[in-house]
Amino acid sequence: MKKIAIFGSTGSIGINSINVIKNNPNLFEVDTLVAKSNHRLLISQAIELKVKNVVIIDEEFYQETKSEINKKLPNCQVLSSFSGLIEVAKIKYDLVISAIVGIAGMIPSITAIQAGSNIAIANKESIVCGAEMFIEEAKKNQVKIIPIDSEHNAIFQIFEKENLDKISSITLTASGGPFFNSNIDFADISVAQALNHPNWQMGKKISIDSATMMNKGLEMIEAFYLFELKQEQINILIHPQSIIHGIVEYSDGSNLAVMSKPDMRIPISYSLNYPIRTAFDQTKLDLTKIAKLEFFPPNDKKFSSINLCKEALRNGHSSVISLNAANEIAVQSFLEGKISFDKIVKIISQVIEKIEAKKITSFAEIIDLDKRAREIADEIVAKNK
Ligand code: NAD
Ligand code: MG
Repeated sequence: MKKIAIFGSTGSIGINSINVIKNNPNLFEVDTLVAKSNHRLLISQAIELKVKNVVIIDEEFYQETKSEINKKLPNCQVLSSFSGLIEVAKIKYDLVISAIVGIAGMIPSITAIQAGSNIAIANKESIVCGAEMFIEEAKKNQVKIIPIDSEHNAIFQIFEKENLDKISSITLTASGGPFFNSNIDFADISVAQALNHPNWQMGKKISIDSATMMNKGLEMIEAFYLFELKQEQINILIHPQSIIHGIVEYSDGSNLAVMSKPDMRIPISYSLNYPIRTAFDQTKLDLTKIAKLEFFPPNDKKFSSINLCKEALRNGHSSVISLNAANEIAVQSFLEGKISFDKIVKIISQVIEKIEAKKITSFAEIIDLDKRAREIADEIVAKNK
């Protein structure tokens, strides 16, 4: 039985992970669950899975969470706040599912890596912000990083380590999001419209990132660090059907691709069971029903976010941290009705311009720079009112 921890168990990835685990209950033992504020769901997950450790980040829900869980599971340790999360991240698991949203997931993931736990990572922001240092830490501690993000999971499956020098390029596909075919003025886009993704049901932050295409820019950066390629080797291709998730092109002319239905439980199942495969989805991918697979180049004029991400990556690690922080603030501000949709990418660009690039040498420096970039982004948002 694999001993599992789920950081972010009440989110879209967390819920899908529990669904996959329940499909094969004799293979996995969930020891630890972590969530921020949805304590009711966390309590029911903890009791159902009979876990040993629970962390509810928001302290206002701590007493209720603890008493409800301990009524049924008297020996379960219930903790709260960031310090509680770090305490359970220090336990060694066979696999930690890193599914917190935003840079908030980075230090918990690094702590888990340092404890020797393998990581199935959905939390792309922690790779984006942790960059080479994140990958180095995994190598140093001899732990595996298995990407859950569907495109990276696809590339991971077909990335031939023995042919690294024969890899010409990789391609991450993108559905194009809700506005790929729309002529709507970006200033008029409502929160509900932006959250309405055509192919995937996801958390709010990544849904907005998909609507601005920042998600694909962040994924390009994620792939750059994960697969240790040159920036020019990473392509983005619009593929509205979301059936092909990633392609690796080899120098002999072979292009390997991974196809599946757009269902995150498939890459999650792969990541949980890696390196073997376990039966999960019995409903077959029927290409005759899908009938056509279409491909388009990204529209850089309409979506300037991808070029902004490319530029930040060329500038280096510190610009990438600022970009991510500004995006987190801008997305939250849009969701709260403080700014219009068209301002999201503009604010990110303004924040990057205001922060001079510098060398980053520790995780503490990443957190400091993230904080500074957030403050600048907050100031710009306040002026936008
Ligand atoms: P979500 O908003 O649905 O869930 C986020 C989870 O993180 C929740 O359980 C929440 O309680 C927890 N959380 C939030 N802030 C926290 C904090 N400060 N400390 C501890 N826990 C905290 O998000 P999601 O859609 O599940 O996405 C999670 C991550 O996976 C993101 O990085 C996203 O980019 C990535 N991802 C998601 C999908 C998807 O299909 N949803 C696909 C690919 C990648
Ligand atoms: Mg993805």
